[in-house]
Amino acid sequence: MTNQIIALANQKGGVGKTTTSINLGAALAQAGKRVLLVDIDAQGNATSGLGVDKSEVEHDIYDVIVDQLPIQEAIIATDNYDLVPSTIQLSGAEIELANQDAREDRLKQALNTVRDNYDFILIDNPPALGLLTVNAFTAADAVLIPVQTEFYALEGLGQLLNTIELVRQQFNPELDVAGILLTMYDGRTNLAKQVAQEVRSYFSDKVYDTMIPRNVRLSEAPSYGQAIIDFDPRSVGAKVYTQLAQEVIAQYGDK
Ligand code: ADP
Ligand code: MG
Repeated sequence: MTNQIIALANQKGGVGKTTTSINLGAALAQAGKRVLLVDIDAQGNATSGLGVDKSEVEHDIYDVIVDQLPIQEAIIATDNYDLVPSTIQLSGAEIELANQDAREDRLKQALNTVRDNYDFILIDNPPALGLLTVNAFTAADAVLIPVQTEFYALEGLGQLLNTIELVRQQFNPELDVAGILLTMYDGRTNLAKQVAQEVRSYFSDKVYDTMIPRNVRLSEAPSYGQAIIDFDPRSVGAKVYTQLAQEVIAQYGDK
């Protein structure tokens, strides 16, 4: 029994949070783990990437966080695992929550009621360090940080780590960094190699061994509403996310 809650976060957009949420979730499910993915980005990219038509969603994460709808009523089954969807409704949530009690605690309260049903709960975060991300960090055991392997890789990581530290002090002393994941790695360029080396020397064993290469199949899969292991099981993308899942299972599997 694991019951690990992992928030995937980086306030930079386009670094691979959603791609990793969808595909790590699918690879964990394929390894026999019970998985729930919670989409807390108003863009709802994880929701549509898993083949869910947002216009047909009855209850979403907004209803859970803002109106305190029991989360069970918002959970839907997708091909491989469960999802709490998000829609554009969520874009007003931070303002609506601003004057409410225990506003940092909403997601945690909701997840407490279902966490025993899952080995891994993944939270796909918006590209911001606002109240929704604070909700995710308050609910989570650990933060997985996807970092795009490019020149500005480390930029903004200080702010992210500060936010994690603030949440530790105020709401969740046990919050851990699960690890840094290097994404969109292009091994043909010296720059990518240098950046990967720099990140590893700075964060040492906090960086996952698995690196996610640039792989066009990974960017095509969402428009078919499929995780990469279903869309193209023989692709490099499928292989590396399966490998990442093995690392995450080794990290938390026996806890
Ligand atoms: P975020 O959620 O951090 O904003 P996404 O996961 O949505 O980032 O990725 C941003 C864009 O890059 C998307 O179009 C996605 O399909 C694409 N992408 C993500 N990871 C890869 C990869 N390893 N190879 C190629 N394209 C990728
Ligand atoms: Mg995203």
